[in-house]
Amino acid sequence: MSPRNGGDTSGNSTPGNFTPNADDPTADVSLPSPFGTDAEALVVRSPPVKLIHRAQWGARAPKNYTRLASTKGVKVHYVGETISPALTDDHDRCTALVKSIQRDHMDGNGWADIAYNALVCPHGYVYEGRGPHRLCAANGPGLNTDHYAVCGLVGDKGLVVPSDAMLNGLRDAIEWLREAGDAGSQIKGHRDGYSTSCPGDRLYAWVKKGAPRPGGKPTPPGKAPAWPGVYLKVGSTGTSVRTWQAQMHKRGWTITVDGVYGDESRRVCIAFQKEKHLNPDGIVGPDTWRATWEAPIA
Ligand SMILES: [Zn+2]
Ligand SMILES: [Zn+2]
Repeated sequence: MSPRNGGDTSGNSTPGNFTPNADDPTADVSLPSPFGTDAEALVVRSPPVKLIHRAQWGARAPKNYTRLASTKGVKVHYVGETISPALTDDHDRCTALVKSIQRDHMDGNGWADIAYNALVCPHGYVYEGRGPHRLCAANGPGLNTDHYAVCGLVGDKGLVVPSDAMLNGLRDAIEWLREAGDAGSQIKGHRDGYSTSCPGDRLYAWVKKGAPRPGGKPTPPGKAPAWPGVYLKVGSTGTSVRTWQAQMHKRGWTITVDGVYGDESRRVCIAFQKEKHLNPDGIVGPDTWRATWEAPIA
């Protein structure tokens, strides 16, 4: 959520973040250009394929930054208001939105800069926000030193579904902050440790899955062993039943692996068959047997 919406009343963990702070020796009081040493270093190290530098999106100069050596990881955010679905058809609108967020954060909230370290549009472009090694202002008071902040340009109305390109872009941004900003391995949502709906249910579900690249690894279906040649149904017992139960258990079903096909096995079988659009007869025949190993899990 954009901090102006009450998600963060004070995203800066220190009030000195937007005025030069003599107490903080790590504050960058004299600002390098957007293409200063940090930017050059990260370009050499590992730029996301579609990184849009500050100068390229017309960012205003920040007031000042507090430098961070490293973080435990990254927190994912969303804009969290009505986002026009027209964004999807017009990448220029993405840039306009990023600029308006920066304006709100600087002029509305009086912050040093846009709150996020990076923002990602539906087309998968990664907008450089504060960038690596900078304290963000998005996670909530006291929470900004632990995690960088990356924001997906989706809302809670209008454009709410993150595209595959956006998920890839978020992943690019996270990996960029790891490479160039020494972010740790944690990937969390804004709502972790802070009372907010951000980053919305869809992005949060993705975060909870480990923020996988779409079409990536979550379902590596194996090859089914040969069908045992007998239909497994209530009353069946033996090794084949046990093999099937064990695989269902592996897929995440609550099922006792005892080699006895009883009511529980039948119930699980029917639920699985319905999920996979198989004939829900509660009997493991060749199709259900094969799906038990080869159908995607999600
Ligand atoms: Zn947020
Ligand atoms: Zn875009």
